[in-house]
This record gives sequence, C-alpha cells and structure tokens, in this order.
Amino acid sequence: MKFNPADNIQDLQYFGEFGGVNPSISDSSTYTFLSAKTMFDTFEGNADGCYLYSRHSTPSNLYLGEALAAMEGTETANVSASGMGAITPVLLQLCNAGDHIVSSRTIYGGTYAFLKNFTPKLGIETSFVDITKLDIVEKAITKNTKVLYCESVSNPLLEVADIKSLSALAKKYNLKLVVDNTFSPLSISPAKLGADIVCHSLTKFINGSSDTVGGVVCGTQEFIDDLRNVNDGASMLLGSTMDSLRAASVLKNMRTLHIRMKQHSYNAAYLADKFQADGLKTVYPGLKSHPSHILFKEMMNEAYGFGGMLTLDVGSLEKANELMELMQHKNLGYLAVSLGFYKTLFSAPGSSTSSEIPEDEQKEMGLSDGLIRFSIGLDNNIERTYQMMKACMLQVGVL
Ligand SMILES: *Cc1c(COP(=O)(O)O)cnc(C)c1O
Repeated sequence: MKFNPADNIQDLQYFGEFGGVNPSISDSSTYTFLSAKTMFDTFEGNADGCYLYSRHSTPSNLYLGEALAAMEGTETANVSASGMGAITPVLLQLCNAGDHIVSSRTIYGGTYAFLKNFTPKLGIETSFVDITKLDIVEKAITKNTKVLYCESVSNPLLEVADIKSLSALAKKYNLKLVVDNTFSPLSISPAKLGADIVCHSLTKFINGSSDTVGGVVCGTQEFIDDLRNVNDGASMLLGSTMDSLRAASVLKNMRTLHIRMKQHSYNAAYLADKFQADGLKTVYPGLKSHPSHILFKEMMNEAYGFGGMLTLDVGSLEKANELMELMQHKNLGYLAVSLGFYKTLFSAPGSSTSSEIPEDEQKEMGLSDGLIRFSIGLDNNIERTYQMMKACMLQVGVL
C-alpha cells in the first residue's frame, strides 16, 4: 500500500498506566532499580525498556519520537527541546574539524547563522548554494564534504528541493542528506525520497498551538543511537532535552495534524490563487507559476496539499509594515514570527526571521524588502478572509 504518513501515526496506539486513552506522563527525572547490575546495563544502553535519567530518555519522549518516526517513515527518532536543538547536534555529530557542508542558501535564519558564524569556530566550513541548481550543488562538493543540507520547502522563499536528485548526489559522493521538513509535514516525506535524516521544528505546524518550542531528528536506529550515546552523542551531551509534559502535549496535538494541514493548505491555496489573479506578486508552491510546482507535485503526498505558507511582495518595507499593522488591527492575523498557528501569522522576513542574512546576500537570493511571509491560519470562511484582506490592501494602496 502507498505510504501515508497520517495513517501511520493513526495506527500507533499507547495506553496509560491505568488504562487511560493517552499514555501516562513520566513525571520523574530519575528512576530506581532493583538491581545494581541493571542500572549499569541501562547506562550503557543494554537494558531495553529501562529508564535511568530523563535527559537520556523518558517514556513520554519515546512515544512522541515513535509517532514522528512513523510520520516520516524512518526507523526511529529523537525529540529535543527546540528545532535548533535537533538540527545543531545532527550537524555536529556528522562533522569533525576539517569537514565541509554544502547547504542551501535559503534556510532558516538560525540554521544559517549556526553554519555561517558558529561551526567555523570548530573548523567546519559551509558553502551556501542555490539548492535548485543541481550542477552548482555538485560543483560545491569537495573531498572534505560530509553533509548536504536543505529544507524541503525553504524559509522564507518557498524554494523546493529536489530531494530524489539530491539524494542521488549524496550517494554518489558518500554524503549524508539532511532535510529540514518543518514547512511541509505530511505533504512531503523526505526519507521516502532518499533523505538520510529528517529534522523538524515541532514549534510550528506539528504542535500547531504556538505554546511551546520543540524539535525532532528522524533517522536510522544507528544514527539516533549515535546522537544519544552517553560518551560522544551530540544530543545527549549538548543537553537540549524535551520535557516529558511537553512531549505528551505535542503528541496529543499531533493527532489532529492531518486535519489541520488540509485546512492550512486549502486556505493558503485559495488566497494564493486570488491574490495572484489580483496582480500581486505571489509565491505559493501550489500555483502553476511557481518554478517548482511540478516538482512539488511529483514529491507530495497529495491529500495534504501544498502547505500553509505563502509570500506576497508588496513593493517596499514601509508598505509591508503598513499592511501588516492594518491586517492585525482588523483581526485577520498577528504580526508575529513563527508558523503553523490556527490564526494567520505574518512578518517581513528581511527584517525579522532572516535578518541574520546580510542585506547583499538577501538581495542576491531574491529576498526583497517588501516581502511578507504568511502562515495561513485555519479560518472557517476563507472567502470572507480574502475579502477583508483585499480591503486592507486597497486601503494601503498595494492593490
Ligand atoms: C523555526 C524553524 C527552525 C528552528 O526551530 P526552533 O523550534 O525555533 O528552534 C528550524 N527550521 C525551520 C524551517 C524553522 O521554521
């Protein structure tokens, strides 16, 4: 049967200690043992099903990890306190001093800053490339390259990575392909297309209620074991552990992810269509005008649509700010970073989430001042929302 991420999540069933319909939350940082030998074996990772200390693992974190692994179709997963707390250990685990990374240049600002400013201190260098140009990606690979890094749908420009072709390149040069799938959960399944490791910021669509930060790394048992190794595992030693209470709450929110993604996608596609027809510069992977529309279509799990993110270019930062303030005033959404909330969120990435990227580089990659990034909410009547947004646009003079 065809791989379906939401069906895989649905098939997982965990009961609580007292027959509860949700698994019990482990409310302890440390665990007792009847025998000293079992404690030693647990520390060494040789006593399955035993828990030692909650930075290492907890039942609640394992439940959530298994649900995310089921979603991505990987052997297992490791949850973390934030998306950055998932991405940074992966890169540090895969690279030593002297190693090299080839990364897409349009990635999350924090990841960009980590690769540009932080990892060079450890002797790890990164070449940033246009990930949609495979010949340029291949040319950037050196004998020291260990990792090919990208986002399936990039932040904030919504460029789409050709994961199958990138995976073929990674295999040819013996690299690990690491894909951040935060913008397209359920819609795209990178591991099924050949990615070795899939990361998410759970903070966004997956949790969906803008009440916590969280992250996950999905991969092989061997790699996740490496990350968790007590002697040299980057996730274990850097310590960005998710709290069990949070893991339990994210797992419950995941139960409605498929319904939310369908509605986010439906609403975003509706608005993108209308705004493009109105003559606004609109970027949405579901539009035929998107340079990677066909590619996205080939990769996607169709039921979940092209995602909830779209961008509009309204010409200048002043106009963008004026429009965002007015839309917020009319209760159409919030002027806020982040994504995946029930309410529409909008921000101008050039001066917020991507401000880590120097201005000349922003220009070169096509990140203009007037660009507004929208995370479209779960609005019940999207035609009504469109009419109200259009009125705002007419009022500030961008339409
Ligand atoms: C938000 C985000 C991250 C970072 O996640 P945090 O949970 O904020 O640490 C990484 N990648 C992408 C694409 C994001 O949107």
